[in-house]
This record gives sequence, structure tokens and C-alpha cells, in this order.
Amino acid sequence: MNIILLGAPGSGKGTLAKKISKDFDIPQISTGDLFRAIVKEESELGSQVKRIMESGALVPDELTIEIVKKRFQEDDCQKGFILDGFPRTVAQANALEKIAHIDTVILVDLAFETIIERLSARRTCPGCGEIYSTLDYSSNECSKCGATLIQRDDDKPETIKNRLEVYEKNTAPLINFYGDRLFKVSSDKTPEDTYRPVKTFLESMGE
Ligand code: AMP
Repeated sequence: MNIILLGAPGSGKGTLAKKISKDFDIPQISTGDLFRAIVKEESELGSQVKRIMESGALVPDELTIEIVKKRFQEDDCQKGFILDGFPRTVAQANALEKIAHIDTVILVDLAFETIIERLSARRTCPGCGEIYSTLDYSSNECSKCGATLIQRDDDKPETIKNRLEVYEKNTAPLINFYGDRLFKVSSDKTPEDTYRPVKTFLESMGE
């Protein structure tokens, strides 16, 4: 099953992707994570990507499409995949149409006010990628791998605003692009509440 998760940064796509990935045994492909790995390599490309990410802007389409194409070639994608954070522009969506068949697009919907609250409270484990919130987790140690949690540079208030503007301008038009291929879910309650209807929907697709 090939799935796209569409939604603003901080809407809960990553958390939802992890749950789907575990239950349906298909990999989560997060372009944000792929770019964070490139940044860690400390190459010239890495420093360019770092600057873009820190500003909250988008990495150019050409490079983004190239890394996704490369990722699709890995063995684990043969069973399907969950795209988390891709496509983010109409150009990326058009390119994707040419390289993969998409079974469903899940739109994760959340009010910008709540997104700002959640992103400001988000802490990430640099070791295993687990996501926490200071709203309900007071330790700064990952409960899964013990690493010290960090706040992503782009989860700081000045960048959050820019990321939401970029979403509105570049990514929100994809809601029309996918039109009646969308399955919409609200993420304003708990991660379990968000996942429940999605799981039922995906199970019904497999029947
Ligand atoms: P995320 O972890 O999905 O919030 O992505 C973090 C940052 O990575 C974004 O703010 C962009 O700078 C970059 N990025 C991630 N996915 C894409 C994409 N599909 N197109 C362009 N830039 C992206």
C-alpha cells in the first residue's frame, strides 16, 4: 500500500506514520528525516540544506525528488511506503505521479493555533527519532533509548511562523490537487484518537 500523509508541519503526520508503519509493516519515508541525515554528513550540500531548513523554507524540488526516487529503490519499499512530508509542492506531486502509484492520501487536519502550541512543546530524540511533548513528558531523556532529547532548530518560534506560511502557500494547494482522493482526519485529540479511523479505513482498503 502506497500512502501519502498530507498536513501542516506539526499536525501529527510523523506520529501517525509511525503507527501505520508498525501495524501495516511498511516503511515511513520522511523527507525531513532524510534531509536531517544529509545535514549530519557535514558536506557542502549538508550545510546548504541546513541553512534552508533553519529558515523554514523548502529544499529545492529537484533535489527533493531525487532523494525520494533514490529511497524508493531500497528493498523495504517493495511492500509499499508512507510518505511523510512529501510531496510539499505541486511540482513534487506531479513528479510523484510519474514514479509511483498512490493508493490513498490522508489529510491530517489541525488548527494553526494548536500546531504552534504543539510545535513549541515538541522534543525529538536524536537517537531513535521518538517524538515527545513537554506538555505531557517532563523528563529530557528518551524513554526508549536513553538519549537526551533536543528541540529541533526549526521548532523554535521564529521558524515555526515561517514554516506555516510556506505550508499555506506551497503545500495547501495539494488539497485541491488530490481532491476526492483525500481521506481527512482531525488530529486535535490524542494520537490514538487520530489513528483509529485511519486504521479502520486502511484495513477496509486491503479487503
Ligand atoms: P519536516 O521534518 O517534514 O517538518 O521537514 C523539515 C524541513 O525539511 C522542512 O521545513 C524543509 O526545509 C525540509 N523538507 C522536508 N520535506 C521537504 C519537501 N518535501 N520539500 C522541500 N523541503 C522539505
